[in-house]
Amino acid sequence: MYADTILDVFCQRYSDAHDKFTAAIETSSIVEKTNKHLHPMKGPSGEKLFCDIAWSGDLNAKNVLILISGLHGVEGGVGSAIQTDFVSRHRRLPADVCVVLVHAINPWGFAWSSRNDHQGIDVNRNFVDFSQQLHQSDSDTIWQKIINKEADIQTIGADRHTFDLLSEGQYSYPSALYFGGEQASWSRQCIEQLAGQLKCDQRDKIIVVDIHSGLGPYGYGELISDHPSDCVARQHLIDVFGATVTEPILGTSSSGIKYGLHDYFWHAQGDHVAFVTLEFGTFGSSAMLRALFADQQLQQQGDIDWQDDDTLVIKHDLQDFFCPAEKQWQELVLFRGRQVIEMALTGLSQHD
Ligand SMILES: [Zn+2]
Repeated sequence: MYADTILDVFCQRYSDAHDKFTAAIETSSIVEKTNKHLHPMKGPSGEKLFCDIAWSGDLNAKNVLILISGLHGVEGGVGSAIQTDFVSRHRRLPADVCVVLVHAINPWGFAWSSRNDHQGIDVNRNFVDFSQQLHQSDSDTIWQKIINKEADIQTIGADRHTFDLLSEGQYSYPSALYFGGEQASWSRQCIEQLAGQLKCDQRDKIIVVDIHSGLGPYGYGELISDHPSDCVARQHLIDVFGATVTEPILGTSSSGIKYGLHDYFWHAQGDHVAFVTLEFGTFGSSAMLRALFADQQLQQQGDIDWQDDDTLVIKHDLQDFFCPAEKQWQELVLFRGRQVIEMALTGLSQHD
């Protein structure tokens, strides 16, 4: 369906994805401004790591679409492909829309093929007020059973209730999965700076699309809204994307209700800001837990030896799970990515 040259935008490795994205924005006729955040750590080959941001269209437009990739590091190949494809294809944008591409918001996780950041934080559980009492999760009982081999990962992944509890987010066990951290992460600080630069209160409508992978049916791009059911922004999402929007609060999503989501930061910017997660399914929750558990065990051993064969097996498993190098999957992702962006641009350029 798509030529191999079009699917070339897919890269499992950060350095390749970074090179393709930055080459595309350098030659793009729609990109007006770029800025980047240098990460304090280096990649496996000693390379510098960046979150790159490209501003396209009219920077002062009243309406803004923000496309974000790589909040969960190793998932970055998916969003990066959609972003690189977007800047490569578009020669012009609707007059009253600015599109902001945030590439590899967790570049360390992308480069080291980890879902977490360099501090072991699940950035998508990190958006909480750390001065307040944090959520006390019961998920550690499940985690302990996995560690002690008293519970089977296959069974936990297949049980929706148990899986949702395990993945809801926790703030007590840094060595366990889905740890939301003890302070604002590096990636969260980049997001907060971006919101300041955007001057959200001076815009009419903002749609944020945060691109992830791993949950749901193979190749399907689910649009997940965690807005409260009675708010204006949620209705805006339904108006723009229709019945394709799913909601954990209603039980219609492959995602459960979670704590500290990236969503909640943008919800707080006002009713004119609609946030949606674009989540691409791969091989199911049991396979995901197996891959994540192996990586979590590896991280507990200290510095990661990128030359070690056992390490590479774990890392390649993660890359193949979150960004499969399979043509039919890539085609589904690219089609859906283009479709979601077009729907968002149409929705933002329509006047009430
Ligand atoms: Zn994710």
